[in-house]
Amino acid sequence: MSNKIDTLCVHGGAHRFPDESGSLTFPLYQTAAFSHTKLGHNDHGFDYTRISNPTRQYLEETVAALEKAEDCIGFSTGMAAVSACFELLQQGDHVVCSADLYGGTVLYIDTIARKNGLRFTYVDTANPDALRAAMEPGTKAIYIETPSNPMMNVTDIRKCAAIAKEFGAYLIVDNTFLSPYFQNPIPLGADLVIHSGTKYLGGHNDTLAGFVCCADKNVGERIRIIATATGGNLAPFDAWLIQRGIKTLAIRMERQQDTALSIANWLKKHPKVKAVYYVGLPEHPGYVVNMSQASGFGGMLSFTLDSHETALQVLQKVKVITFAESLGGPESLITLPRTQTHRDVPVDVQESLGITDSFLRLSVGLENAEDLINDLKQAME
Ligand SMILES: *Cc1c(COP(=O)(O)O)cnc(C)c1O
Repeated sequence: MSNKIDTLCVHGGAHRFPDESGSLTFPLYQTAAFSHTKLGHNDHGFDYTRISNPTRQYLEETVAALEKAEDCIGFSTGMAAVSACFELLQQGDHVVCSADLYGGTVLYIDTIARKNGLRFTYVDTANPDALRAAMEPGTKAIYIETPSNPMMNVTDIRKCAAIAKEFGAYLIVDNTFLSPYFQNPIPLGADLVIHSGTKYLGGHNDTLAGFVCCADKNVGERIRIIATATGGNLAPFDAWLIQRGIKTLAIRMERQQDTALSIANWLKKHPKVKAVYYVGLPEHPGYVVNMSQASGFGGMLSFTLDSHETALQVLQKVKVITFAESLGGPESLITLPRTQTHRDVPVDVQESLGITDSFLRLSVGLENAEDLINDLKQAME
């Protein structure tokens, strides 16, 4: 049909469309199992929904097309997708990670992955020299977020890919923040791309999902076996909802980015705001690298206020914006990462990253930009 991303979002990635009714939307196959006519014949290509399901498969093909991936596997949550990637590794393998990661990923690493015998080094991956220095002969994966959550640090994906290749390690990129609309890590050299589909892909704050996109079909096959064996697959109805959400991904991302830029520029001038972290500001240290690998900046920004009291006041007084975790939906959400999204990150690490008690993260939604700015203004007064 077309490889243009807005068209792909609307029409989906698969050419096969089995329904004869003329339905505009892909049907919801809300079933646990599929019938067989004869022993040894898998007539329709489906057996059991934990293994595969047409609704989920259609969505997986769409997300694979959006990410320019060879394969994509749908999971019940972003965390199920993250854990499936680490299941590719063996006991004793070493992983180098961005120092600034989604809090749930840090929780997974500290409580599960280390117990399973993986070894981790956190490093500022925005600094390629620091990344190279952290690599060991046994390093089997580099795991990054760019821009990172919540500090918006930008890592050069191409440079990471070159270092990963040299060591025979996987480059894994959590691409939740920019979504495939603004950034495709696989053509830049990544091996695996993770999404929390709960966020921009679903885009409506109404369900959870996760995806692992693979540059190599064989790795995709291994992830499928991991998904079948561990059972964190995406349910058909949730797959259907995410497919519906993706239809408007392009227009949502554009609008959220426009509004985020307006808010970032307004925050910059506010006397109670000490620092603004938004990749779309030319003074952001990662601006140039981000421009070289992404087509936009997204709708996430963070800022530091003059005191913890002002931060608490903002959380209490916002009316249009909601004090809640999560991101990427139509409702603007504000959170204090220190005690919310990043509560599982050790306090000394939080401090060293800048996740202080006066630091807020804002997911810019689809409300009117002026309403959002006025809401922040009254909340800071
Ligand atoms: C939310 C999020 C996750 C985890 O996804 P869930 O769907 O909540 O399990 C992983 N990475 C990033 C960057 C996220 O924002």
